[in-house]
Amino acid sequence: MIDPFGRHVSYLRVSVTDRCDFRCTYCMAENMTFLPKKDVLNLEELEAITAAFIRKGVRKVRLTGGEPLVRKGIMALINSLGRYLQSGELDELTLTTNGSQLSKYSKELFQAGVRRINVSLDTLDPENFKKITRWGDINKVLSGLDTAQNAGLKIKLNTVAVRGGNDHELDDMVRWAGDRGMDITFIETMPMGAIDELRSDRFLPLSEVKENLAKNWTMTDSSHKTGGPADYVNIAETGQRVGFITPLSHNFCESCNRVRLTCTGMLYMCLGQNDNADLKKIIRSEGGVEALDAAIDEAIGRKPKGHDFIIDRQSDHIPAVARHMSVTGG
Ligand code: SAM
Ligand code: SF4
Repeated sequence: MIDPFGRHVSYLRVSVTDRCDFRCTYCMAENMTFLPKKDVLNLEELEAITAAFIRKGVRKVRLTGGEPLVRKGIMALINSLGRYLQSGELDELTLTTNGSQLSKYSKELFQAGVRRINVSLDTLDPENFKKITRWGDINKVLSGLDTAQNAGLKIKLNTVAVRGGNDHELDDMVRWAGDRGMDITFIETMPMGAIDELRSDRFLPLSEVKENLAKNWTMTDSSHKTGGPADYVNIAETGQRVGFITPLSHNFCESCNRVRLTCTGMLYMCLGQNDNADLKKIIRSEGGVEALDAAIDEAIGRKPKGHDFIIDRQSDHIPAVARHMSVTGG
């Protein structure tokens, strides 16, 4: 699939649920209203749409959410998608998780063919962890990480940089990740969905984070590219990489190779735009595989050039994108 700007679309991210066992302050309000079940694709529908994308040339699928591992029956979907790895139609099946369920699922994930996962961890301090995630228990996440590594899963940490939230801990996180053989990627907060605090107060540009890290670490630019939006540096002292995802302070759209499917079957061609294609309507109608393929082609033909994110005082009360990150999947 090639979009109007000549970019190959080879990566599908699937949000399998909008629900989550955490309530991270930058992601959700504490009192969230979740989608009614009838609006959410069942596991067979999720698989059928994902299979259509694989037929059309998608080589990498990432499951996300909400928290993908709290979706009931999730291993059935992961196991069926794992068959496309065996057949060679898919290069990678992976997920982004908050880590709370890794003790339970790591072994099965590995058996299904998953080899690398992204785990979101914003702090190592149990009290701060409670503050940021509201409902999370850091011990569950840390033992989940151990289980995952013992099961053979390679882990990359994702850390959202929050001013006044975890900015004092980022050096410790680099050291901690390095000691455990994990790469770590820092992410700027994006203005998606209403939350209970002002985004402009909490926004921390990664240019500032990078400058501060450079005081303590020997960093050299890395040629490492994942096809994703992160720029990487090598850290001489730990031998690991640190990535920076800077949607706000640097535009990362030129090399975008991905589209996103929500758990309600809406296809978003850009994380930061509202245009979408309703694939649930198609899959629940009589059109069959041809109609689904045609709807996907039509949607890719509308993939926009980029996002228009901006965080400032004026935009504090009207986020650039009304839906939360947990709907489209981070
Ligand atoms: N629950 C899983 C997790 O936390 O990894 C998967 C879904 S979560 C929405 C995916 C990623 O998006 C996480 O790394 C999270 O920190 C990040 N995220 C959530 N809201 C964000 C926002 N407004 N700006 C930037 N990153 C955000
Ligand atoms: Fe849940 Fe992930 Fe959002 Fe945190 S960032 S509330 S873990 S979906």
